[in-house]
Amino acid sequence: MVGALAAFALTEYYFWVVLPAHRHHPSPLPVALRFYLLISWGALAALYVLMMGYISNDAPRRGMSARLWMVCVVMPGGIGAVLYFLLRQPILTSCPSCGTRITGNDHFCPHCAYQIAPCCGNCYRTTSITDLFCTHCGHDLASDHRPARLQAFPG
Ligand SMILES: [Zn+2]
Ligand SMILES: [Zn+2]
Repeated sequence: MVGALAAFALTEYYFWVVLPAHRHHPSPLPVALRFYLLISWGALAALYVLMMGYISNDAPRRGMSARLWMVCVVMPGGIGAVLYFLLRQPILTSCPSCGTRITGNDHFCPHCAYQIAPCCGNCYRTTSITDLFCTHCGHDLASDHRPARLQAFPG
């Protein structure tokens, strides 16, 4: 956030203070149009910095290289940013039982079979902990034994 504000301020400073100093004749553009252009350039620079900050936080959580992706994102045209959102991996968490890294889509730990998400004991698709019956197969969830339903929320 601070970086983004600084980038915005710096761009504004550059356009308002540095550029006119190099100019010997007044700008042919009307002041309102110039003002609009400068604001949008500043906003674009701020957006870039915000994007970089976001990726440097977000990429490691997904097991991706933050440095590599930040280089991609600074490439012109914002193509890197689009690619990042298309290609990014699901957020990684770790198994509460054995610490194995697991993706957000997993229901069970691949190493110790600890149940991570509540799921139906019959069809093993995701359920909500407040559901009484499976929304996919109609199975009575209350009849499931642990770990079929409740192990992800002990106590
Ligand atoms: Zn585990
Ligand atoms: Zn089911």
